Order: sequence, then C-alpha cells, then structure tokens
Amino acid sequence: MRGQNAAEKNLFQSTLLPAADRELLAGIMSEQEKLQPTDAATRHLVRRLVDEPDRWALFLDIDGTLLDLAATPDAIQVPLSLPGDLAAVSGRLGGALALGTGRSLPYAGGLFAPHRFPIAGLHGAQARRADGTGSVVAETPALAALKHRLAEETAWMEGVLIEDKGAAVAAHYRLAPAYDTALERIMRDFAEEAGPAWVLQPGKMVFEIRPSRADKGEAVASYLEQPPFMGRLPIAIGDDLTDESMFALANARGGRSIRVGSLSTATCALAKSSSPSSIRSALATVAATNARKTAAAS
Ligand SMILES: [Mg+2]
Repeated sequence: MRGQNAAEKNLFQSTLLPAADRELLAGIMSEQEKLQPTDAATRHLVRRLVDEPDRWALFLDIDGTLLDLAATPDAIQVPLSLPGDLAAVSGRLGGALALGTGRSLPYAGGLFAPHRFPIAGLHGAQARRADGTGSVVAETPALAALKHRLAEETAWMEGVLIEDKGAAVAAHYRLAPAYDTALERIMRDFAEEAGPAWVLQPGKMVFEIRPSRADKGEAVASYLEQPPFMGRLPIAIGDDLTDESMFALANARGGRSIRVGSLSTATCALAKSSSPSSIRSALATVAATNARKTAAAS
C-alpha cells in the first residue's frame, strides 16, 4: 500500500504516476480527508447542505479555499476527487453552486473539467451563468501596452511573477516578499494610469489590476437573480480580501459566510474554517451522503 505522507498528497495530479495509481492515491487521500476532524464551520456547512439542500446556494472561491495555495500561481494542484465531489454537491443543490475567483474564466473552468460549473472569473468581471451563457470583459489595447511596460519595469525584481490574465494583470511576490512595498507603489501607479475602468486589488502576496466594474459580491448578487440560485440563501466561502464583498453580500441576504485559513486582517465572515482541506472534506462528506441517499432511494 502506498505511503500517506504530505509529499504524496502533492502528487494528486502528477502525470508521472500511471492513471490507476493516481486513482488509488486519490481514493486513499480523500478517505484520509474525510477522517480529519472538521471545524465547527464545516460541520455546520455539511449539516446545512445535507439537511436543507433546497434552501442554500453555495459560492466558493478557488485558490486558498478549495485548493491549497502554492509557491507560484501555476503550481496549484487539483485533488482528483474534488471535481466529482463538487459536481455531486452541485447536483444535491439543484445546480445552485458557483465558483468565484480572481483567475480568468477559461483557466478556472479548465481546473474542474469535464464538469462545467457557473464561474465568476477575474473577481466577478467575467461570468459564466448556470445556463451556459456569459459575459467577458475584454482586454483593451491600452491595458495590453500597460502590461508590457509593467513586465519591463518589474523585470529587475527577482522572484516577482507577472501573471497576464487577459483583462487583468497580477504581480505575485510570494517568492520575493522583500519587494512588497516597492511593488505596491508600482502597481498603484499603474492602476491609476489605467484609468477608472480598472482598480488595484491587493491579495495574499499579490497586487492585481482588475476591472473595476464588478466584484465578487456583485457576482453573487447577480447569480441570486437567476435560476437555480433564485430564492435560496447564499453561503459564501473564501480566504482573501477580494472575498470580503462576497461575505458582506451573503450576510446581508440572511446567508452564511466562512473565511478559510489564517489571514490576519479583519473579516466580516460569520465563521472561520482552518484550511482548504477542511472545506474539501466537508464537500466530500456531502457528496458521499448524497450518493448513499440516492442509492437508498433507488
Ligand atoms: Mg482565494
């Protein structure tokens, strides 16, 4: 039997392992996650989604909420069991599950293939609705030129990674924390230069210039006007500053909000959960319960 240490956990989506081994490993790890003690926030989450599936709509951030953060944006790993668990939870909620992320919509969509969930990308500026239709904010020539100059101006900052997201651009400094202040100054100047259609969005070891016309709270509000979200109470789960607008909206609508992880800044979330693995564990538990109920009913 395979070992069960943290290094192997990181091999979930490694192409170095044969498919059968990857499936075996994913099975072992998802069983392990189910055995981990969950915090009060995730225990309540499971109870709500199992007992009252017609009452709630679920809005989930991706990085740092569903997935463990990694040293670089492209190094994140999707546990093999997660897309299926999300699909099962979505099915239990009648499709009222949406993802909200700072990632671009095409990138975020690809993480959970073959499943197609409603996704709000670029912090809500791009949306794929439950019916498959969507809206996308386009990159402008001015932003393209600005991104080019930004890459040049930060080239000397070793370890700073510029992520081109199309209609947004992020500067990550997780590998170069000493550049925090200098990078913020540059990003603030560029955001100002970009004009009122863009704003500076700080996050965990990242400064981003994103479209100003939408935020995650507005994205959640927009979903709640459409079936199958309409008439349900929102549960918003996120881990970063950009998720605060989603928490505030969920609270204002009589829903629930959960902040994941240990960010030290204040939050308006009503509950806290320790880690993405707690959230994944809760989703796996709901998915397994759903499967048992479906089997018992047939
Ligand atoms: Mg996040």
